[in-house]
Amino acid sequence: MKRASKLIGLAMLVPIVVLWAWWQERRILNRGWGLSELERGWAKAAGVAEPSNIRVMTVDTVPLPMPVSWAEFFHERFGLGIGSPIGMSLRYGIYLADEYMPNPRVLVHEFVHTAQYERLGLFKFMWLYFCQCAFEGYNGAPLECEANEVAARVLERLPRV
Ligand SMILES: [Zn+2]
Repeated sequence: MKRASKLIGLAMLVPIVVLWAWWQERRILNRGWGLSELERGWAKAAGVAEPSNIRVMTVDTVPLPMPVSWAEFFHERFGLGIGSPIGMSLRYGIYLADEYMPNPRVLVHEFVHTAQYERLGLFKFMWLYFCQCAFEGYNGAPLECEANEVAARVLERLPRV
């Protein structure tokens, strides 16, 4: 996939995703629940400045920013894949897929993304995140690597759950 083609796809995709993320964050902030004392401690350890702003909502399936047919279009035309995540941080709103609910691994990983949103802002986070995934792959994306590394450090210090 050519670099220019991917950039065109990203320039179309990211603004849609940012609007969607903003809307979904509002939804989670209205309907989700706040963190327990323990979870706030994990969020702090993950680098979140304002853990009390976070709300979590469990769903059967984490929603995607667009209909599946659009996602397929971006995947085929521009090589921008959107998977089916088990958790998703939309700044202070966090979705968790139901079956993973009790798993602090997923939650702490999403907290690191929340800290990244605090640092970068919503638009810049999304732009960098999608660019990194498009050009370096999901596993090579620096924002994803940071989330995995920080989460691993935080989880190491937790008592076994
Ligand atoms: Zn991640």
